[in-house]
Amino acid sequence: MESHLFYLSSNPRPELERAEGIHMWAKTGKRYLDGSSGAMVSNIGHSNPAVLAAMRAQMEKSTFGYRLHFMTEPSERLAAKTAALCPGDLNKVFFVSGGSEAVESTLKLARQYAVAKGEAQRFKVISRTPSYHGSTLGALAVTGYAPLAAPFAPMMHEMPKIPAPRAYLDGLDLEDPATGEHYAAMLEAKIVEEGAQTVLAFIQEPVGGASTGALVPPKGYMEAVREICDKYGVLLIHDEVMSGGGRTGKFWGADHWGAVPDIISISKGFGGGYVPLGAMIARDDMVQTVMDAGGFMHGHTYAGNPLACSAGLAVLDEIERLGLVENAALMGDKLQARLRGLMNRFSFIGDVRGKGLLTAFELVSDRGTMEPLPRELNAFDRLVEHAYAQGLIIYSRRTRGGTSGDHFLVCPPMIIGDEGLDELMEMLEAALV
Ligand code: PMP
Repeated sequence: MESHLFYLSSNPRPELERAEGIHMWAKTGKRYLDGSSGAMVSNIGHSNPAVLAAMRAQMEKSTFGYRLHFMTEPSERLAAKTAALCPGDLNKVFFVSGGSEAVESTLKLARQYAVAKGEAQRFKVISRTPSYHGSTLGALAVTGYAPLAAPFAPMMHEMPKIPAPRAYLDGLDLEDPATGEHYAAMLEAKIVEEGAQTVLAFIQEPVGGASTGALVPPKGYMEAVREICDKYGVLLIHDEVMSGGGRTGKFWGADHWGAVPDIISISKGFGGGYVPLGAMIARDDMVQTVMDAGGFMHGHTYAGNPLACSAGLAVLDEIERLGLVENAALMGDKLQARLRGLMNRFSFIGDVRGKGLLTAFELVSDRGTMEPLPRELNAFDRLVEHAYAQGLIIYSRRTRGGTSGDHFLVCPPMIIGDEGLDELMEMLEAALV
């Protein structure tokens, strides 16, 4: 039958029948282990009974109440619970329906805050290359992934970029504070080069996601970035769309370093694959300043609807009840140790990195130089296809700004146990052979 859908992937994919826990079944009956939680979405696993029950109960009451017409209990409760999980005085929550919307919201809030403070000359948002912050034009403008932005360049303001701190590629020691200072100094130099009074914000993923493959910042980097932002009055935005929600072994990726941002975006695991849901959380005084100046000029119709929020609330409750943040830390350590073990057997695995269950490995042709595999080899697609054949789903991306390099995110649901990990590793090994 001809399909009337169009997607990014041109490869034929199996038709999904049902999913439960860490597994998904195709219509053919073949069972897959969801080794990437979709795209780091299904963090608490599929078909969680408590979330489904909460959604059913909410559906019996109301599925939609426009936020300008009604307050709803699920949105109030989810906002309060989310705020309580945030560091510093980030306690004002703005709901959206996805990651790009969350990032877009952070950019617009930052800008309106600067304007309200009488700093209308600040509009530049510095970001890192590579990075991924979303597909809408604002989020894309700060995305450091050139091929994605190229066709739309005339429609966007070009935003300044600095290199992401990829110590493993630059031959630097992740644990040496000089490495952190080295990369943070690039931010300071860029702020000065652009003219500090024109720089609005710096946006980064605390633990890298799709674009860098679970990039972990070097020692001292996060703290130095915070200091530099403070020095020049630049807002610090943490895009935790992928790293937020517990997957790294702490609720926020940045919690590993104690660097408190001014604004956070979250999505993906926040709705857990049950509903499209995301949020921006900002400092109380920033929101107050914007509201006093006439209000936030941004919003999306479906945002914060009671059905989405009831699911989001149940997802957070399940994370807490099942101790999933702790499990992500424990199982992430085991997964990374086993992936490192594979480096003895497969010389083309150049690097294993990540925090908790936000984990990736990168394929190279030479571990000494970290030279990527030749593009013609198409390892990017081929390993994914081999894994599919085994019954394992993993998430592949090009590592070096979308132009070359192959990394694979291995990020199963945070409910995974030892048995699931054995099954995952067995299939992955078979796929690598
Ligand atoms: N930011 C980050 C860090 C992401 O990983 C993504 C999605 N991969 C986005 C933003 C965009 O999210 P969405 O696809 O839900 O719009």
